[in-house]
Amino acid sequence: MDNPKTTDAGLCSPAPVGSLLPCPFCGKDAELKHSIVFHSPVVRCSMCPGTMGTEYGQHFDTDEAAIAAWNRRANNNLTVG
Ligand SMILES: [Zn+2]
Repeated sequence: MDNPKTTDAGLCSPAPVGSLLPCPFCGKDAELKHSIVFHSPVVRCSMCPGTMGTEYGQHFDTDEAAIAAWNRRANNNLTVG
């Protein structure tokens, strides 16, 4: 389980488990789930249909990868400064 794969060359430091950013769409809390169908971690908004994971056409090997992808997308949607 200690083998996080970086499927993305530009991936920086993955976010630690439990540090999910709020949903980029509605701002509500996101939840880390595990798809029993695809056997893959999925980050899903608790309020709106915002999802990052297999149901979004992506597959993550680790929780960290799913969280990092969710957080990175959230960051990309925010204009800082
Ligand atoms: Zn949402």
